[in-house]
Amino acid sequence: MYELIEELYPICRSITGNGVRQTLERISQRVPLQIHEVPSGTQVFDWTVPREWNIEEAFIDDADGNRLIDFANHNLHVVSYSVPVDKVCTWDELKTHLHTLPDHPDWIPYRTSYYKDNWGFCLAHRDLDRFKAGPFRVCIRSSLTNGSLTYGETVIPGATDREVLFFNHVCHPSLCNDNLSGNAVLAELASRLRERQPRLTYRFVWAPGTIGSISWLSRNQAVVPKIHAGLVAVLLGDAGPFHYKRTRTGAEEIDRVVEFVLAEQGVATKLRDFSPYGYDERQFNSPGIAAPVGRLTRTPNGEYEQYHSSADNLDFVQPDYLEESLRVLERVVTVLEGNVSYRNTAPHCEPQLGKRGLYGSTGGTQPKKREHAMLWILSFSDTQHSLLEISARSGIDFDVVRAAADDLLAAGLLEPCT
Ligand code: ZN
Repeated sequence: MYELIEELYPICRSITGNGVRQTLERISQRVPLQIHEVPSGTQVFDWTVPREWNIEEAFIDDADGNRLIDFANHNLHVVSYSVPVDKVCTWDELKTHLHTLPDHPDWIPYRTSYYKDNWGFCLAHRDLDRFKAGPFRVCIRSSLTNGSLTYGETVIPGATDREVLFFNHVCHPSLCNDNLSGNAVLAELASRLRERQPRLTYRFVWAPGTIGSISWLSRNQAVVPKIHAGLVAVLLGDAGPFHYKRTRTGAEEIDRVVEFVLAEQGVATKLRDFSPYGYDERQFNSPGIAAPVGRLTRTPNGEYEQYHSSADNLDFVQPDYLEESLRVLERVVTVLEGNVSYRNTAPHCEPQLGKRGLYGSTGGTQPKKREHAMLWILSFSDTQHSLLEISARSGIDFDVVRAAADDLLAAGLLEPCT
């Protein structure tokens, strides 16, 4: 995962353009993706897919021809979606187009101007010292053309068409935690899931933030009712605690499962209720969509100093944290896979377990617990209680409950509810 981040780090991504295509192509080598192109000008709910932005070079030279800023050195140097410009300007004009972080004089900020025609440069505050009286030659060789918005997705079909959706944004340039960590962790999760034959169908989407999820939702309205659980999974590579942001109702299966897994895994965790600010969970939870999609991050957006700056770099994310995030997400998948509600097929009094070989002879390392788990499952399999609820109520480990349910299923004592 860290190696993939290293490879993707130098690519200049935005909400459209060749950087996104290159990124999806590289992710495709890890897990095959279907690539979709949505033409500029396409109406997607209340939004319009913008013109496609690409950039070749950008720089600022002083009057002596010294290069003060060069996009080739860092692709955060140019405000994303800057219109093309090639002119000589005074310091007074230029300074209104320069962005720095005075509190962090060595860091380059990340700025965008997607929906308003503008241009600008971002630089380390310390480098302002190099700007003398002027005039300055300013050049941005960018293009805004009728092209398309690109997103990638992969579907891993399960035994049922009820879907689990993993969504992440893929529109940030050289920033590691914000964007690349999620991109890499979900690529790994998807590639591992492809080796399994899951019960549920899994869909992974890599798309630009906001306009990408809106475009995807606009084109996939038939999929929305099938979404059984979903996560926006981003910002997964820093040292901070896990933050789970609940769905709008806070009462969906994904809420219960993620909260259970974070507690069970013993990782530092903070839980938050839904708010309409953040990443693409805003779109999935809008009242007309109302898909049960929560959000899992480590430190949330805007809550670490390095956020949206050049300090969100390859040192800020670390393999151990990526690994831990992957482990949590894999466990979320395992619990979603196993968390079924059943109907007890012999519900009149207790069925006789002994004559079915289920009592006193069960294998595994915890036979007594497994027998207890069977009694709990039979008692609560009235179609209204899932195995996760039975595990919580009984205090018996989820995996033991799951294994006991498999024994009861094999004996014909349970039927799954769909
Ligand atoms: Zn961001």
